[in-house]
Amino acid sequence: MHLQRLSLTNYRNYARLELNLPPGLSIVQGENAQGKSNLLEAITVLATSRSPRSGSDTELVNWLAQESDLPFARLSAELKKGERLERVDITLLPAKGNGGFRKQVRINGAPRRALDLVGLMPVVLFRPEDVDLVSGSPSVRRRYLDIALCQMDPPYCRALNEYNKTVEQRNALLRNLQNGGNAGEQLRFWDDKLAETGSLIIAQRYRLIKDLDAEASLRHLDLSGGYERLKLRYEPSFDPAQPGRNSGGVTRANRDESFAVAAVRATFLAYLLANRRRDLAAGMTLSGPHRDDLGFYLGEHNLRSFGSRGQQRTAALASKMAEVVVMTATAGVAPLLLLDDVMSELDAKRRAMLQDALTTAPQAIVTTTDWHHFSPELLATAQRLHVHQGRMDEVIEPEVG
Ligand code: ATP
Ligand code: MG
Repeated sequence: MHLQRLSLTNYRNYARLELNLPPGLSIVQGENAQGKSNLLEAITVLATSRSPRSGSDTELVNWLAQESDLPFARLSAELKKGERLERVDITLLPAKGNGGFRKQVRINGAPRRALDLVGLMPVVLFRPEDVDLVSGSPSVRRRYLDIALCQMDPPYCRALNEYNKTVEQRNALLRNLQNGGNAGEQLRFWDDKLAETGSLIIAQRYRLIKDLDAEASLRHLDLSGGYERLKLRYEPSFDPAQPGRNSGGVTRANRDESFAVAAVRATFLAYLLANRRRDLAAGMTLSGPHRDDLGFYLGEHNLRSFGSRGQQRTAALASKMAEVVVMTATAGVAPLLLLDDVMSELDAKRRAMLQDALTTAPQAIVTTTDWHHFSPELLATAQRLHVHQGRMDEVIEPEVG
């Protein structure tokens, strides 16, 4: 897969951008506040239908354009997949009534749902703030898993969407039942639905984390040169491998079995039934994938609470690099690697390791404030771009000493 052309109209500080991208490496250099992050954000929106930064689509529309008579923004990507060309367009148009904007998605010219574009152009984005993958709240880590899985596996994305709606509906019913009423039959209906989609989510998260763990520990060893193994551990809100088992009897093999979809479905349903009174008292669903977490451990220590900033950053980087490998193996296409100004945060060793990864990536787009963060050899092989106030120019000879 190759993103060969990107077009932006009224996107953040880009009034108009037409950018041709070669396979391999592109490096975008610019001072602060010129449009580096905005560029990678735009590509991520085209890949996942959502901004990694802001919740509101309105923020994505250029401020001047928002004042005009016909406010809109447009993002387009032209992808080459083998001999096939694909085109993704997202248009942001004023939504009726609320002053916001709504998304209109087209794939190869045909109107589609936002969900349908996810996975067409898999990306892995790494930003300095992604250290909060390790240090932040569980919702950051669930989002990380969901974005990775949605891009690899469209049925996961549909299940997740359905699951989230079901949680809302079940919660509404739980609150209703607090005012009296007969719980049994109605709750059972939502429990079934929850277990059906939830089991798929749990099983897929389990597999992904298992794969990520194996790869991330290798990258981490290279990065840190340390002796302690980085461990990524799935911490589901209830453990399908535990109920009904004798303590200490859970081996790796029967753990795999317990996390198969059908098995999870049964245990999840039983768990919901057993904890129904608790859910009723709280007026919400207290267990399920919407409460999952992913733990990063070094030895026995959870890096979230005990890691130094540098350790957290290294672990986050290792797991992002692992994501590239796992995605390539699972989806059969290498994701587009997007690195937003991460070099400045890393020491020489980690920078060198990242540069190595860049030379092997089928396509990578990297931003920087400073050309010196890259070796002359790497620069010589890359497409070099300079961005200034939302305008992009090709650089023939970067001034590096
Ligand atoms: P840094 O090196 O500081 O990270 P950057 O090059 O990554 O800088 P961006 O985050 O891409 O900078 O932002 C570039 C500019 O775009 C900023 O000045 C920001 O205020 C501006 N900007 C953000 N949203 C909009 C918008 N909707 N309309 C116009 N400009 C915007
Ligand atoms: Mg930036």
